[in-house]
Amino acid sequence: MTSNPTHSQPNGGHSAAVDLAALHLSAMLSADHPMVGRGRDWANENIPARLDRFDADVWKRAGRDGVFAFHMPRELGGQGLDPVESLLFFEGLGSAPCDMGMIFALATQVFATQTALVRGATAEQRDRWLPLVLSGDVVTSFAMTEPDAGSDTAAIATIAEPTGEGTYRLNGQKAWISLAPIADAVLVFATTDQSIGSWGVTAFMIETSRPGVTLSDPVQKMGLSSCPFGNITFTNVELSDHDLIGTVGSGQRIFATAVEAERAFLYAAQIGRMRSLIDMSVQRARGREQGGKPIGAFQAVSHRIAGMQLQYESARLLLYKTAVLYSQGQMLTMASALAKLHISEQLVNATIDTMRTFGAYGYTVDAGIEVEIRDALGGLAYSGTSDIQKNIVASLLGVGRPLRKQKQK
Ligand SMILES: Cc1cc2nc3c(=O)[nH]c(=O)nc-3n(C[C@H](O)[C@H](O)[C@H](O)COP(=O)(O)OP(=O)(O)OC[C@H]3O[C@@H](n4cnc5c(N)ncnc54)[C@H](O)[C@@H]3O)c2cc1C
Repeated sequence: MTSNPTHSQPNGGHSAAVDLAALHLSAMLSADHPMVGRGRDWANENIPARLDRFDADVWKRAGRDGVFAFHMPRELGGQGLDPVESLLFFEGLGSAPCDMGMIFALATQVFATQTALVRGATAEQRDRWLPLVLSGDVVTSFAMTEPDAGSDTAAIATIAEPTGEGTYRLNGQKAWISLAPIADAVLVFATTDQSIGSWGVTAFMIETSRPGVTLSDPVQKMGLSSCPFGNITFTNVELSDHDLIGTVGSGQRIFATAVEAERAFLYAAQIGRMRSLIDMSVQRARGREQGGKPIGAFQAVSHRIAGMQLQYESARLLLYKTAVLYSQGQMLTMASALAKLHISEQLVNATIDTMRTFGAYGYTVDAGIEVEIRDALGGLAYSGTSDIQKNIVASLLGVGRPLRKQKQK
C-alpha cells in the first residue's frame, strides 16, 4: 500500500491506522455517521431549498466554515481529514432538502480544481492559489471541454504557443464549463504542441480578469441552475511559467488524476439525494390510499421502492470503495468509472421512480420532483458520459483484445 500524497500526514491526520480502518468500514456500512449529519445540518442552515442563480453568500459561508478545506493537507491550510470524511459531509449535503445546483458548485471546486492543484501543482503554485481557494475568496473553473472536444479530450485545440523563454500566448475556447460565467480564476488545459498529442497538454491557472479572457453569459440549461455554465474564450492571453500548474506536458496526467477522483466524488451528494427520494417514496406509499389501502400495500409499488433501496446501497458501496482506494493511494480507474456510471444512472432512475409513486401530484411543479429529474440528468454527461465509463471498464477488462491463438500441435 502506498501513502496518499494529498494527506498532510500518514492516515490523513488520524492518530492511528486502526482509526482510519474503522472510519472506512463505518462509512461503507451506513450513512449514520456524524459527518453525514454535519453535512445535512450545514446545508439546512446555509443552502436555500431552491435557487435559480449562484448564491455568493453560500460560497463565502462554505469558505468560512471550512467546507473547501476538510481533506486538504494541513500544511497547505486544510484540515487534514481523510477524503472519506469529506465525502460523508457531501453525502449529508445532498440528503438535505436543499438546492442541488449550489451543492454541485461546491463539489466541482473541491473535487476537480482542488485535486488538480494539490496533486499537480508545485509548492509555489499551491502557495499562490490554495489560500484563496480554501477561504472561498475566489470561485474557480476547471476547463477541459471545448466545442469540438468533449469525450475526446486528446482533441483539444486551445493552444498555449511558446513565445520565448518561459512565455506563452493562449488562444482558444472552452465550452460548457461549470461556474465559468462567474469564475475569478480558471484552471485551463491547453496544448503547447499539437503535433505530439496528449504529451503536449499543459495546465495553467490564471485570473479571469487578465486581458484577452472573455467569460460568456450563463448558457441556459435544464437543471442545476445555481451552478451556471458557459464558455471561456482566450484571445492572445499572455502567460508565463508562473502560471503553469505542474510542468509543460504534464497536463494530461494532472487531468487524469483529478478526473478520476472527481468522477466518483462529485456524486457523493447524489447518494444523499437518493436516500431522501427513497424516504419521500416510503412516506407517500404509506400515506396515500387507493382501493381502501395504502398504495405501498400493492406489490408493484413496494417492489419499486425495494429496487430503489438496492440501487442506493450498491451505489453507496461503490462510492466508498473508490474513496477508500483513493485514501490508501491505490489505483481507482475501474472503481471510479463504475461508481460514476452507477450513481449517475441510478439517481436518474430514482427520480423517475419517485415520480411514478407520486402519480399526478409527482408531475406537478409543487411536488418538487421535476427539478430533481432535471438536476439528475446533468450527471449523465459531466465527468464523462456513461458510454465513456463503460469504455473504461471494458478496456480494463481487456474485452476488445483478441485471445492469443494456441499453437497447432
Ligand atoms: C452540467 C455539466 C457541467 C459540466 N461542467 C464541465 C466543467 O466544469 N469542465 C469541463 O471541462 N467540462 C464540463 N462539462 C462538459 C462535459 O465534460 C462533457 O459534456 C462530456 O465530457 C461529454 O462531452 P460532449 O458533451 O461534447 O459529448 P460528446 O463527446 O459529443 O458525446 C456525444 C455522445 O456520443 C457518445 N460518445 C462520444 N465518444 C464516444 C466514444 N469514444 N465511445 C462511445 N460513445 C461515445 C457520448 O457518450 C454521447 O452519448 C459539463 C457538462 C455538463 C452537462
